[in-house]
Amino acid sequence: STAPQIVAVGGNAPYRIHIGAGLLDDGVLLTATLRGRHALIVSDANVAPLYAKRVEAALRAAQPDLRIARHVIDAGEAEKTLANFGGVIDALATLGATRDACIYALGGGVMGDMAGFAAACWMRGIDVVQLPTTLLAMVDSSVGGKTAVDIPQGKNLVGAFHPPRAVIADTATLRSLPPRELRAGLAEVIKYGAIVDAEFLRWLEAHCDALLAADDAALSAAIARSCTHKAAITERDPFEHGERALLNFGHTFGHAIEAEQGYAHGFNHGEAVAVGMLLAAKLSGLLGMASDADTSTLRSLLQRFGLPVELPTGLAPDALLARMRLDKKAQASGLRFILWNGPGTASVVKDVNEAAVLQA
Ligand code: NAD
Ligand code: ZN
Repeated sequence: STAPQIVAVGGNAPYRIHIGAGLLDDGVLLTATLRGRHALIVSDANVAPLYAKRVEAALRAAQPDLRIARHVIDAGEAEKTLANFGGVIDALATLGATRDACIYALGGGVMGDMAGFAAACWMRGIDVVQLPTTLLAMVDSSVGGKTAVDIPQGKNLVGAFHPPRAVIADTATLRSLPPRELRAGLAEVIKYGAIVDAEFLRWLEAHCDALLAADDAALSAAIARSCTHKAAITERDPFEHGERALLNFGHTFGHAIEAEQGYAHGFNHGEAVAVGMLLAAKLSGLLGMASDADTSTLRSLLQRFGLPVELPTGLAPDALLARMRLDKKAQASGLRFILWNGPGTASVVKDVNEAAVLQA
């Protein structure tokens, strides 16, 4: 096995991202940032039976006097609710968690966002250690400090900026991840190449088979490089006043697709983003930015990774446009897109022409 990789995240509240196979059994690593004697493991009903006992055993072995509780929630985006957030708070209260307690968020982005938000709120902020078990969570949601829950009016409308104390990504957990979820994470990995790292795009092309086979070394390298990019961008722009918006490449279209389909059906987030990136590239072409050759390179790469590149049948362009107008980030300034200037370069463009959007 390969040695774990470490990505250091700077800024006001620096932390480290540890990436490698078997890290969930490393009690010394898991407890390295602990300040107190209370730990709450928050996980979902798919992930907890696979990994929660091991995490608990590793914590207990490293710090025998730790008071540990486990809180398990049903799996899925539909569970990222204020009610389940309240359940985490109740679990902290039952545990008697003090100001120096730590939440271990074990699972995908749903657990990370909800448990992270509970950590942001309990006693005005306690530690959270992110233990991401999906590729999407490892390369995206566990890094950067955004936490949130959904309400019926929209996704992620209630939340806080609350950076983790550490991120510990055990790549061995990705072996139990359904292949479709792995590919969804790879869409976000491709996104980093598209917006800031042309060389990474070529590397991804060359390592496609290894990545799809969940090869540890290939995945660790892809995760470390993705996290390095996300960390650098969020460090320079933690509150999304500028550059951080580039991370939304493919997401204006993607969010509209997800919202129009309903979150429980159709494409998952990564798939919607894959189509969204291609539509954003097409739109960029129409506006004289990306070349046709660049756009077809992106299309073939997404297809090689088994990701969709076409809108699902039955989704009407004007319905998607209406959704985009409602997007919380679009409201102040007309339709805002991250447009593409070819591999490794993207820019935020405001007031994008609606006719071109429909044409794309
Ligand atoms: P998820 O948490 O729902 O996980 C996907 C599915 O995989 C779930 O059914 C889960 O139970 C299962 N699963 C997780 N790990 C597993 C494993 N190792 N083995 C088997 N099954 C496993 O979804 P996700 O794609 O990880 O995250 C999506 C969420 O992340 C969304 O709510 C999105 O808003 C959020 N997000 C947040 C940020 C941020 O910056 N905070 C960024 C991107 C996405
Ligand atoms: Zn995304």
